[in-house]
Amino acid sequence: EDISLFDMLKETAERYPAHTATRMYQHKLTYQELYHSVRVFAGALQKKGIKKGDRVAIMLPNCPQYIISYFGIVAAGGIVTQVNPMLVEQELEHILNDSGAKKIILLDDFYTRLQEIRNRVDIEEAITVSLQKPFVPTSPDLSFLDFLTIKHEFNQPVIHPGHDIAVLQYTGGTTGPSKGAMLTHTNIYTNAVQSYEIFKHDIELGKEKCLTVIPLFHVFGMTSCMHLSILCGNEILLLPRFDLEEVLNTIKKEQPSIFPGVPTMYVAITNHPRAEEYNIESIRICNSGSAPMPIELMKEFERKTGAKVLEGYGLSEASPVTHCNLPFCERKPGTVGLGVPQTAYKIVDVATGTKELPREELGEIVIKGPQVMKGYWNQPEETAHALRNGWLYTGDIGQIDEDGYLSIVDRKKDMIIASGFNVYPRDIEEVLYEHSHIKEAVVIGVPHPYRGETIKAILVVKEGKSLSEEELTSYCRHHLAAYKIPRIFEFRAELPKTNVGKILRRALREEVVKETM
Ligand code: ATP
Repeated sequence: EDISLFDMLKETAERYPAHTATRMYQHKLTYQELYHSVRVFAGALQKKGIKKGDRVAIMLPNCPQYIISYFGIVAAGGIVTQVNPMLVEQELEHILNDSGAKKIILLDDFYTRLQEIRNRVDIEEAITVSLQKPFVPTSPDLSFLDFLTIKHEFNQPVIHPGHDIAVLQYTGGTTGPSKGAMLTHTNIYTNAVQSYEIFKHDIELGKEKCLTVIPLFHVFGMTSCMHLSILCGNEILLLPRFDLEEVLNTIKKEQPSIFPGVPTMYVAITNHPRAEEYNIESIRICNSGSAPMPIELMKEFERKTGAKVLEGYGLSEASPVTHCNLPFCERKPGTVGLGVPQTAYKIVDVATGTKELPREELGEIVIKGPQVMKGYWNQPEETAHALRNGWLYTGDIGQIDEDGYLSIVDRKKDMIIASGFNVYPRDIEEVLYEHSHIKEAVVIGVPHPYRGETIKAILVVKEGKSLSEEELTSYCRHHLAAYKIPRIFEFRAELPKTNVGKILRRALREEVVKETM
């Protein structure tokens, strides 16, 4: 039966009061302490006028205060508005105005950024979290600790889990302006349960530690690290940022068993000169998501670390997990596995979206399940486009094989049309990653007077190695059809990434457009 997210925390706190809920460095909270802090925080929000349905923004890196704020907001019946701390002022302004948030909980380091736009947004009060130094915000704002001293009896509102929105998850903006996916309590709770179902033979309730280095403000961390751990009574071992040495040392010292990550993190670990020395075998579940995991990289990572990677797939609009290589089924590298429980999926033709395509054929992936969002906040047209007859149109191109395994080929918007051929950047990137001198590769379409678009590859070469355009072209000729061979190669020291670790194709494409103007 569906319950509210606060009730989920409450049940775990009753079952495992003394278990560690979360820890960051020396700061530890048991489930009882977390539950208590959440009630205090929710009471303070209510005292400050927050009512059911009000939006409250959180702009924090991973820290215990994030978890207290998040559950405090949903306990009071409010809607968490997730804000990625990397956003520039203009984007921050867009999200705050779009959501209509009146309060924000943010790191003191971000306070000046908020103040820059304060007169253009509706934020009445900012609650600042300090991780190191004492900080005195300008009136009328309060510090997180002051906020917790507001004494007010918490009144649990009635929540209808299937209808009431818990979170506005703004899409990352890899492809366009951010939209707020409305996720209900049921959407998120079910996705935690679905994730548990996948791993239930490998997870011992109340016993696991989840290395939480992917950000909680991103939907993958929110569900796979925070909600799944709380559902199970497990420990959320927090790290505020991805620092390679720190991650490896933490694994060595703490021996976490679950490590949800994104491919760029696994790249970093694989390329660490002494990767083998860090015994990371305590990790049994290494679930990769958010972006494609190149097969070569997966093999190298596993060879060096002894860990096993299970690649999955999801999106903000589905809370997010819809597919995963299940531990108890055959794993197929290069695919994102089978649908999670209660999740239907099929491939439809890209142009109309109405015709279901047979197995092995490429088309748009559509999904149906209890984790699929209610719609986009204040965007009826976008909602009608994304949700049709109960199916979520993902905007991703993929195919389903004869055993039901799904592969993501690319995003609809990333497809390149070169001389009339449909080219999927991912196909080319996989080949480039197989080259022993290439560390990272991304392929984009560049406007071209005759071909429509032409293919450009931007590469980061491994340290101490070098590569020429001629070598690359001849390498590609051996591995790719002529129309797929990049015509332009560019070498860089690094690629622009979102702070979730996704390569920012949009930024790369925009650079090209600017250059040609
Ligand atoms: P936007 O939706 O604005 O482009 P975003 O990328 O941040 O931003 P998310 O909801 O965070 O949006 O990410 C979901 C997308 O990530 C999916 O639609 C898909 O394109 C991609 N993705 C997720 N997992 C995988 C995977 N295993 N392989 C390939 N792509 C993946």
